[in-house]
Amino acid sequence: MSRIYIALDLETTGLHAERDAIIEIGAVKFRVGTESENTTLASWSTFVNPGRSIPYRTSRLTGITQREVERAPHLRVALEQLAAFVGNYPIVGHNIAFDLGFLQRHNCLVGNASLDTFELASILLPQAPRYSLAQLADHLGLDLESHHRALEDAIATQQLFTRLWQIACQLPHDVIAVINTVASNSPWSLRSFFAAVARQQTTSGKALPASLAPSLPLVPPPLTGRSAPSPVLNADALAALFSRDAAIGRTLPRFEERPQQVQMLRGIVQAFNRGEHLLVEAGTGTGKSLAYLLPAIFQAVASNSPVVISTNTINLQDQLFNQDLPTLATALEPLGVHFQAAILKGRTNYVCPHRLELFMRRLQFNAIEARALARLLVWLPVTQTGDRSEVALQSDEEALWLEVCADPESCRPDACTARNACFFQRARAAALGSHVLIVNHALLLTDLAVETGQPILPTYEYVVIDEAHHLEARASEQFGARLSRQQLEQLCLRLHDPRERRPTGLLPTIAARCEPLRSGAAAEVQRQCGLLGREVEQITRDIAPLFDTVREALAPWAGRGGGDYDHNIRLKREIRLSGGWRRVIEATALLDRFDRLADRLVALHAQLRTGDLGLGEEVVEPLGRLGRDLRSIQQELRRIIVEPEANDIGWVSLSPKRDDVLFHRAPLHVASHLASGLFRSKRSVILTSATLQSEGSFDYIRERLGLEPRGGSQPRRYRELSLGSPFDYRQSALVYVPTDVPEPNSPNYAQTLHRALIDLGRATRGRMLVLLTSKSQLRGVYRAISDPLANDDIVVLGQYMDGGRRQLLERFKTAQRCVLLGTQSFWEGVDVAGPALSCLVIARLPFPVPTDPVFSARAETYEDHFLQYAVPQTVIRFRQGFGRLIRSAEDRGVVALLDSRVFTKSYGSIFLNSLPAADIRFGPFRDLPPLAERWLANQPPYQKPSDMASATAD
Ligand code: SF4
Repeated sequence: MSRIYIALDLETTGLHAERDAIIEIGAVKFRVGTESENTTLASWSTFVNPGRSIPYRTSRLTGITQREVERAPHLRVALEQLAAFVGNYPIVGHNIAFDLGFLQRHNCLVGNASLDTFELASILLPQAPRYSLAQLADHLGLDLESHHRALEDAIATQQLFTRLWQIACQLPHDVIAVINTVASNSPWSLRSFFAAVARQQTTSGKALPASLAPSLPLVPPPLTGRSAPSPVLNADALAALFSRDAAIGRTLPRFEERPQQVQMLRGIVQAFNRGEHLLVEAGTGTGKSLAYLLPAIFQAVASNSPVVISTNTINLQDQLFNQDLPTLATALEPLGVHFQAAILKGRTNYVCPHRLELFMRRLQFNAIEARALARLLVWLPVTQTGDRSEVALQSDEEALWLEVCADPESCRPDACTARNACFFQRARAAALGSHVLIVNHALLLTDLAVETGQPILPTYEYVVIDEAHHLEARASEQFGARLSRQQLEQLCLRLHDPRERRPTGLLPTIAARCEPLRSGAAAEVQRQCGLLGREVEQITRDIAPLFDTVREALAPWAGRGGGDYDHNIRLKREIRLSGGWRRVIEATALLDRFDRLADRLVALHAQLRTGDLGLGEEVVEPLGRLGRDLRSIQQELRRIIVEPEANDIGWVSLSPKRDDVLFHRAPLHVASHLASGLFRSKRSVILTSATLQSEGSFDYIRERLGLEPRGGSQPRRYRELSLGSPFDYRQSALVYVPTDVPEPNSPNYAQTLHRALIDLGRATRGRMLVLLTSKSQLRGVYRAISDPLANDDIVVLGQYMDGGRRQLLERFKTAQRCVLLGTQSFWEGVDVAGPALSCLVIARLPFPVPTDPVFSARAETYEDHFLQYAVPQTVIRFRQGFGRLIRSAEDRGVVALLDSRVFTKSYGSIFLNSLPAADIRFGPFRDLPPLAERWLANQPPYQKPSDMASATAD
């Protein structure tokens, strides 16, 4: 049965419906149904006279000129024509809320149903890399004529929708049937789409396999370990594999022998053999992942027990698992060395089929839940991992994920009927049978913190921690806590939500299920649910006043300036002794009520579990868990607000943007946790990164991580190894330090910086990454340089403004003339080899914000906090930033260091001395642009290294 839709797109002068104007409208009327019924019926488009100038940026993006819109109809006329074209048909658009926001302000298309192809694609194409219209068109092989013109985008939307319709019709009948069951009792906007698919499917759909979950491949049997003494690896034999004619040299395309790589391997072999810990800094280009994976494989195979590799980022995990380990498997196979490898994540990363099924038995869902469930139901039959990173959950779907992910509290594998389809149990079984087990720092640390119950990781003695400069930050999160007002309110609303005419939530659901049972026991449970519901409602009302009291108490410390930024206020002694904080403590009487409520929920849960009312596990199980969650939240809040422990740093974030209050706790020192969990209990821990040292010493990182507690007298069981980069920085990089740029805190700095970036951007024709240190600085730079550089056809992309990190990096890599502005996360992990990144600007030294609660609390433990604490961590960050420029031996580039403190301050030389041996020049800024232009022009043409060679550059 075919249906008619209208695909719609607008071009506008900006992103804000209240203050920006429509300049073009495009619409296509089309039909979807069977293959032969899919057709275009009509199309319509018009320019719209906005009665104002079109911003240059919009004109550049769309190609629409002022002349074209000046001759066009005014908005009222255009909207009348649009309404006549659309009629009552449903509207389809990509991010349709944006377009409707502009139209409905003018009362246009207010009553039409709308369907969002972005939302639909994110459900039906869980494996798509991105969901922009252009990227989806690319992913599906659709012909996108031109982008950012209304009619072309409307046509692309039509094509996308038609393809999504076909994909949905090809889904198994049962998947569509379950989605329709889930959606039928919800106000979800895509409900009609899936209902139409079900009607269409009568002949074309595929039969569903027996279960919604896929059949999972077999996993290897667990490693058994050997009781013999630890094996001794032969360093010479392993090092020989890295020669050009040996196993690895022959397997890697364009293999280069690197002495640093072999030195690193020898260092690790020695540490494994002697049972020592090793700190190893290996510069960019060492190929350190292969240098540690090879000994790890041989160690694990010889001992038949796992070696754990921990990383901070998913990118590195992917590289290790999908590139490096398969390469080594190929290289080692002729030698008769076979090994298993696996990635394991924290339990909550995996969907739990049992909990998902229980959740769906509730039958009543809101629109967000219906959308999230549809997403999971489409994904479940095709996933092999059950890993949430494969499915594009929206932020408002997080709460549902917590209801359906693997959860230690409710997991009883021996009694679980879904165990054979369980992704987590399978991943864990694969981990138990693997020689090389890749995890992230969060899981490694979670496992260290397991005091009771079963650890997730198998027993291991050897661990390599890559990106180890992040270990302290991850440990601070892992051994700390974070709680928000919204989190607490959400928890209460899951129990009892009075916002609808009839209350919803777990307690009313249980009460409703008791209704038809007509027994005394059921009536008693109903009564208890009623009482508890009223108590939850009252407590939910009282949460806001508690948090308001916190806001008021902290107002004197919240700083001025307002804006969108979070204010992080450390709960120092002076605050804790203030009258305002005393009122907060008085208000924590509410926490006693949480505690009593938690007790009653847990008691009701126990009663329902042991009773014979048969209410269903899907409502009984969450009751106990919510009770326990409530109790642990109140304990954590009490600890932060009232009874901090000696090693605690407590702080509050006031977030004006989200209107939320967040409580945080982090340990003052993580060293003791790491010392007991890692350094004293594992035989050999290898800590590695391209940046571990400051002033040529490991002292700072060693002390922060607890390898040598200050004043401690432990025997030395660790060694250090510092390996420079194999790259020739004298050839590949020119570092220029202007001597006439004012210091960053002086009044003229911003203006000088903006001018410098415009001149340098023109000289290098874009191809420039600018590292900044705050959002406000980034916004100021973005505003100041975008238009002047646009006149030279150079696009400026800003973090937070022009898309997510991955998207920005993709655009930066492929654009011809582009300047990318980034803060924080862009100081590391940016890997753009070749001419796209020819100039790196470090606008100022990345010192921590002095008022940052964790930084300030830890700084107070030093005699000279600036030199002993602030400088070393800034040097590590600075070196990470510098490392963005040269990513392969063929790379060439210019670094502009625009912070004059490197030569005006006594500590400045520490930063300059921390750089690899490059050509460093000083001079007036005016000399830099022509010098950079000449220097880059004189470099040899860039030769792209093979993927594998670049993947192993770190
Ligand atoms: S074994 Fe545990 S995690 Fe796996 S499906 Fe069953 S309850 Fe869920």
